[in-house]
Amino acid sequence: MQAKQRITILGSTGSIGQSTLDVMARHPGQFAVHALTASSQVDLMLAQCVQFKPEVVVMVQEAAGRLLADKLKSEGLNIPVRWGAAALDEVASAPEVDAVMAAIVGAAGLSPCLAAARAGKRLLLANKEALVVGGEVFLAAVREGGAVLLPIDSEHSAIFQSLPEDPSTWQRRVHKIILTASGGPFRARDPISLKDVTPEQACAHPNWVMGRKISVDSATMMNKALEVIEARYLFGLEPDQLEVVIHPQSVIHSMVQYKDHSVVAQLGTPDMRVPIAYGLSWPERMVSGAGALDFHSLAAMTFESMEDHGHPARFPGLKLAWATLKGLPGSCAVLNAANEIAVAAFLNREIRFDQIHDVNEATLNAVASVRPENLDDLLSLDRLSRDAALKLVTRWR
Ligand code: NAD
Ligand code: MG
Repeated sequence: MQAKQRITILGSTGSIGQSTLDVMARHPGQFAVHALTASSQVDLMLAQCVQFKPEVVVMVQEAAGRLLADKLKSEGLNIPVRWGAAALDEVASAPEVDAVMAAIVGAAGLSPCLAAARAGKRLLLANKEALVVGGEVFLAAVREGGAVLLPIDSEHSAIFQSLPEDPSTWQRRVHKIILTASGGPFRARDPISLKDVTPEQACAHPNWVMGRKISVDSATMMNKALEVIEARYLFGLEPDQLEVVIHPQSVIHSMVQYKDHSVVAQLGTPDMRVPIAYGLSWPERMVSGAGALDFHSLAAMTFESMEDHGHPARFPGLKLAWATLKGLPGSCAVLNAANEIAVAAFLNREIRFDQIHDVNEATLNAVASVRPENLDDLLSLDRLSRDAALKLVTRWR
């Protein structure tokens, strides 16, 4: 019998983290949990510990860690609890770990991703911001550590599934990559009225249930901008070979168009357990828990160009993907930091929905772009950009 794969889940209490545990629970003979990590959600983490019996738990916030440790003791569970962000790097790179699911939201996930990459792990990447910020530094860590980087974002999993197995053939064979976008909750809304959007409206995505940050990003289309940058790094094509088309039904998760104009696409129900199961089982396949597409009852699949929907008035953020990719590599990190600050400020009702883009654009103009060489460079650029964005938020709120 094959040994069980030991997994660390970074961000196990989030939407992707919970779906990952759901898939793993369907294959108890195949997977064991090494570590679960979260920021501060004690009760959910306690329930996950009772069910999955990890070897170690990390709570980033100390008070939450201490509380969890007490509760585990009361349950009679002898599981060590660690706290502080440095512990994330340790459980991502521990020698007994085979695979790491990177499901933290935002640049906070960069350092443990790099630790896992350097330690040569199989790295399942949902945390797109880590690659957007890390860029070439991230890819170098994967190369040098001999890690295997597998995309979990549904579009990138779709592209990966539609590409030939040998990455050395991609540049030669591929004409372009076409990312599909649902268009989010405001696809057909009058752009003028976007200034009145509330956090509740922005978080109500028509097709996917997700964390609050990515839900807001889907509503502004900054999620698609981040995904264009993510695709650039994952698949190594030129920015002009990346295209976005609106496909409101989210049945086609993305496509690859080859030099002969043949198009290969990946289809399925909109359920993140499909790309998660593929990442966990690659190159094999296993049961994910997702429903099957029923082509007999499937209504029409439709497509719309960004221009038809008032682009750039409706989704001005999308174009920033190509603008930053054509600038110095650090500008993607600046954009991501600005967007994290702007989204948090919007969710806190400090700025309007349409001001998210204003913060992003103004921060890109305010922070000088650089070429980061290592994690320290990236983290200081991230901090500088957050400070600049916060200043703008304070001025505008
Ligand atoms: P979420 O908000 O539901 O969960 C985030 C997780 O990260 C939680 O476990 C939280 O405790 C942890 N976390 C938050 N801040 C942290 C910090 N500073 N340090 C350490 N841990 C922290 O988010 P989600 O929707 O699961 O998304 C996670 C990532 O996956 C994001 O990068 C998102 O873009 C990406 N993603 C999500 C989906 C989806 O369907 N939810 C789809 C594709 C990609
Ligand atoms: Mg996606």
